[in-house]
Amino acid sequence: MVFTSDKVNQLPPYLFASFQQKKKQMEADGVDVIDLGIGAPDLPTPSFIVEELAEEVKHPSNHRYSTYSGCAAFREAVAHFYKNQYGVNVDPETDVLALIGSKEGIANLMHAVINPGDKVLVPDPGYPVYKTAVHLAGGESSCLPLDAENGYVPLYEQADLDQAKVMFLNYPANPTAATVNYDTFLQAVTKSAEHDMLLVHDAAYDMVTFNGYQSPSVLQVPDAKKHAVEFGSLSKSFSMAGWRIGYAVGHPDVIQSLATLKSNMDTSQFLPIQKAAAAALKSDFAVVHEYNHIYQNRMETLYTGFQQLGIHADKPNGTIFLWAEVPEGYSSMEFADKLLYEAGIIVTPGHAFGSRGEGFFRIALTVPEERLDEAINRMKQLDIT
Ligand SMILES: *Cc1c(COP(=O)(O)O)cnc(C)c1O
Repeated sequence: MVFTSDKVNQLPPYLFASFQQKKKQMEADGVDVIDLGIGAPDLPTPSFIVEELAEEVKHPSNHRYSTYSGCAAFREAVAHFYKNQYGVNVDPETDVLALIGSKEGIANLMHAVINPGDKVLVPDPGYPVYKTAVHLAGGESSCLPLDAENGYVPLYEQADLDQAKVMFLNYPANPTAATVNYDTFLQAVTKSAEHDMLLVHDAAYDMVTFNGYQSPSVLQVPDAKKHAVEFGSLSKSFSMAGWRIGYAVGHPDVIQSLATLKSNMDTSQFLPIQKAAAAALKSDFAVVHEYNHIYQNRMETLYTGFQQLGIHADKPNGTIFLWAEVPEGYSSMEFADKLLYEAGIIVTPGHAFGSRGEGFFRIALTVPEERLDEAINRMKQLDIT
């Protein structure tokens, strides 16, 4: 008997795992590997959030099960954030759901809204979780092309909107670090309404922005709540990746479907974590701005180094990534392998994010500036361009 389902067997190999294996081997051989591969914030969770958790954990009333959809304090904090940041009114009772990280919510959403064979538009290049979530729910992903020339906005004329039931978007984007203005969301909501699709916007980096750029919310579009849900996360903005807390906001029927599905799978997040996250969302975001500054400085350091190396990248206004062009003469994989084996630097080859990512590589800005300087110096020793 083989106890692995076809669905699991058919999942694409996890590219990060193979790089991590190579990293371990090289470190065992004494190489000082600089890992710019995994997009996990290195900065600590702000202390006021840690202290809030430490306080809440002392109360026995917080040791019980949470309500399935998340505690009222957390859902109200999400509504407060939407009002404060975006000027959008959402009802914490019907329009907001707590998640055990937004990745959990995105994966479960597919089970809650699609039937086997349903088509889902997935951005290419894009965050790989969308495609695997569609696959695990028995759906079929359909390509929503994005390209550098057009600033990675959706190229609707090249996508099959008529057949799709759901469309994913993600701005500020992983892996491309692309940001958009309100008009992109207005158009997306309009397309969703015209084609009777559900628009799912992954806003994991909504607060990780700089250069004066402020990310819009899909829910700022009038009537967006009839066509869209938006996923938010504290993992990147508040450096809370390991805490596993996020939220979904928007279309009340969709929120209800996801809540019903989840109530059969989990019982929401530990109450002290929800309450500490509520304190974060109700805060003045001073630490978020401070952290954004750190990411921006790292980005500038790397960008300047790449310019000296003749490697082209667009300067981003957000995220914790730089998305750069692979120099002439290499595939994404060849270039990533060269950096690993000849310079001890891990980057993620663009094709890991879809076939349209070929020709690019992604660098995570999740190490101190000295390490980025060191990476640039090592790259200068290589003969790459
Ligand atoms: C990191 C990331 C997430 C996952 O966030 P969690 O809330 O930690 O699950 C979702 N979407 C994108 C695009 C990400 O990069």
